[in-house]
Amino acid sequence: MQAEIINGLEIRKAILEEIKTETAEIKAKYGVVPGLVTILVGENPASVSYVTLKVKTAESMGFNEIQVNMSADCTEQELLDMVEKYNKDDSVHGILVQLPLPKHIDENKIIYAIDPDKDVDGFHPVNVGRLCLGGEHVKFPPCTPAGIVEMLNRKNINTNGAEVVIVGRSNLVGKPLANMLCRKGKGANATVTLVHTGTKDLASHCRRADILVAAAGCPDLIKPEWVKPGACVIDVGVNRVGEKISEKTGKKVAILKGDTDFEAISKIAGYVTPVPGGVGPMTIAMLMKNTLNSLKFKLGLI
Ligand code: NAD
Repeated sequence: MQAEIINGLEIRKAILEEIKTETAEIKAKYGVVPGLVTILVGENPASVSYVTLKVKTAESMGFNEIQVNMSADCTEQELLDMVEKYNKDDSVHGILVQLPLPKHIDENKIIYAIDPDKDVDGFHPVNVGRLCLGGEHVKFPPCTPAGIVEMLNRKNINTNGAEVVIVGRSNLVGKPLANMLCRKGKGANATVTLVHTGTKDLASHCRRADILVAAAGCPDLIKPEWVKPGACVIDVGVNRVGEKISEKTGKKVAILKGDTDFEAISKIAGYVTPVPGGVGPMTIAMLMKNTLNSLKFKLGLI
């Protein structure tokens, strides 16, 4: 069996087209566009490239994008003041502080300071609580797990009654994803098992998964013999395993690898996601969707 490759880049393209169209329609009808503030502290190269992509994507959606660059030695209070400035700004519907922050700044303090109704990353405890309550309470599902659910639904992969095994219990991926997939309703309703470093027999859990999500951050953790034939394998892992020279730019770039052995698993699974080009592109699409939804909540459209 040769698995179907789920192309995250293609799905992202389709979602972004929808967001762009809806943004133009809202602008024509209400005279407003989503406003997104991205706050970058310092010059960590990975953070700079993530923020640059977010800024460019938001601009291409027709959003009002405000990029704030703060120096790595700014104080915690200066960052809190910046967040508060945009909490109060009615033209801003989403505030994103790029993580990680320099060590002298308490990340939780900053996340807690963001207005939960502008927290488009979905990290504020109020939004974590809303996600746990489910249904109409949910406002901003965190972008990576939301992207995975969107991906499954757009590929018509049945989650109803499916055995889903998620490897990794982080607040960023594993836990919120488990919450989203075990909910009652269309596109969810799965039987979810969350496995982690404390799990006794990882292989036995993985083997019974109809949908196996690897979000551990360990290259090649998931062995091909742990995959049920025909299963859907979603690889969230992004592991830097070396460097190479890019053919496009001639510059040094990281060699990325997921948590699964893509080639071997492709011969067993029904669906697989590549790394890069699978889950990664979905995250930014869902950030744009959350930002648009924030404006729609404000306008009473949802
Ligand atoms: P994390 O380190 O916070 O959590 C990893 C989880 O995996 C932990 O709960 C741990 O218990 C579990 N784990 C680790 N090793 C294990 C093992 N050997 N056996 C069983 N469980 C194990 O990481 P995270 O933030 O959840 O990210 C996970 C991976 O996903 C990373 O590679 C990260 O780069 C990637 N990621 C990708 C995206 C994206 O957009 N594509 C977004 C977020 C994270």
